[in-house]
Amino acid sequence: MKSGFVTRVLHSDLESPIEHNAVHKPMHVAMAYGYKNAREIAEVFQGRKPGYVYGRQGNPTSTALESRINKMEEGVATATFSSGMAAIAGTLLPLLHKGDHLIASRFLFSNTSSFFGTLADLGIDISYVDVTDVALVAAAIGPRTRAVFVETIANPRTQVADLENIGQFCAERGLLYIVDSTMTSPWLFQPKTVGAGLIIHSLTKYISGHGNALGGSVTDTGCFDWRRFPNIHEAYKTLPPEQWGITQIRKKGLRDCGATLSPESAHRIAVGSETLGLRTDRACDNALRLAQWLEAHPAVARVYYPGLPSHAQHALATKLFKGYGIIISFELIDRLDCFDFLDRLQMVICSTHLADTRTLAIPAAQTIFWEMGPQARAEMGIADSLIRLSVGIEDFDDLVADFEQALV
Ligand code: PLP
Repeated sequence: MKSGFVTRVLHSDLESPIEHNAVHKPMHVAMAYGYKNAREIAEVFQGRKPGYVYGRQGNPTSTALESRINKMEEGVATATFSSGMAAIAGTLLPLLHKGDHLIASRFLFSNTSSFFGTLADLGIDISYVDVTDVALVAAAIGPRTRAVFVETIANPRTQVADLENIGQFCAERGLLYIVDSTMTSPWLFQPKTVGAGLIIHSLTKYISGHGNALGGSVTDTGCFDWRRFPNIHEAYKTLPPEQWGITQIRKKGLRDCGATLSPESAHRIAVGSETLGLRTDRACDNALRLAQWLEAHPAVARVYYPGLPSHAQHALATKLFKGYGIIISFELIDRLDCFDFLDRLQMVICSTHLADTRTLAIPAAQTIFWEMGPQARAEMGIADSLIRLSVGIEDFDDLVADFEQALV
């Protein structure tokens, strides 16, 4: 019998014996591993025997977390990294070559967009498209298109990608479909259901949940046939094809670049992940009620939240996601200054993080999305007065009371 999501997460560590009858995996901080038999270490190096050789290539604590994330996404393999950005860089750098073409969302998280600028400097051709419409993705395809990269719900304006249709398009054209599902988490949405080949998470956000660890992951769902991908290193083609992609990411992205998740962070993220479902349901419930409350408030000009019928992709979000997420963006009426409003908040914290247990607010244009400049912000729909909220799990009445007193 297949158990439910929360049960699978809670009991995943116990699938193999743990020393001293501990109920979850310990933290292994060793960076070096000793072998009595020199032939054995050679076998481990050559991938002929499982084991660990050096901390930069992984350790038992990150393996336990990888297996947990893999279960959450029902993937075939997962690799972890030191942050969400490291997971994105560690995936794309080894898979794309100079002259390749990547189709990417026009509504990317600012640091992802900045990193894609670096990819462009390295000779990768990138088309940025409005991914709420598959027709625009299809129009961008060229002879050297290798992959399509989207975020499920865009940060901060909450546009929802045309996930199913893009998945179908990628399958028809043999393109690698990479979905950054940080804003949905495996609790709200499983990108494998729309044909994603690779799923990326910033583990720093929902999965960890308490703002006390940085981490990232990439999961191979098994949906993509790596034999259709021209950039696989000959050395990895000796393995079964389903292992080609993740092996190249692990070797060329993780091992060579060295952005390894620390055992301490892996352990904290694993503990945080045990309450992912509980926290997310509560925060999504708070977010939906707060978005409705804000939309009805006379001092608020516009609210962007996929749970509101006024949101352009409300029907799609309702169809695909178990909840509408915890990010709300909104603009105040002209006479109110967003900085003054943020300073009046007493409980809500002015902070850049998201998907924390606590509610956080930030002026998006002047902070996270500042470096990209006014033109890029305008194309992404980010007004100077836009406030991004990451709704936490506080008591709803306390949240509303704080907003009520600040909206004067
Ligand atoms: N992807 C998305 C959608 C994000 O919102 C973020 C961070 O906010 C990242 C990736 C990067 O994650 P990290 O901060 O763990 O590097």
